Amino acid sequence: MPYCSHCGNDKSFASSIFPPASETANAPSYGLLASFNEDETIKNMECQGADLDDAQAAFEEPVRYFNTCPVCGSDNIKWNYKQDFH
Ligand SMILES: [Zn+2]
Repeated sequence: MPYCSHCGNDKSFASSIFPPASETANAPSYGLLASFNEDETIKNMECQGADLDDAQAAFEEPVRYFNTCPVCGSDNIKWNYKQDFH
C-alpha cells in the first residue's frame, strides 16, 4: 500500500484535487479520502466533496489522485507498485 514518507501513515490518503464540500470549521479538509489494500487498490473511499464521476476516476487511477497525507499534510506519498504512471 502507499505510505507517507514524512510521517509513515499508510492508513488513509486524501486527494487535494477535489475541494471539500464546505469551508466551515467542522468540514473535512479534503474532498476525497481513501484507504488502500496492500496491492494499492482502494479499500474504502469517502467522498466529501467530489462527485461520483470524480470518485470513479480516482478509483481507477488512485496514484494520480491521492496525493496528500491527511495526517501530516505532506504530499510526499510513496507508491510501491504503480510507478509507471505519467
Ligand atoms: Zn504524513
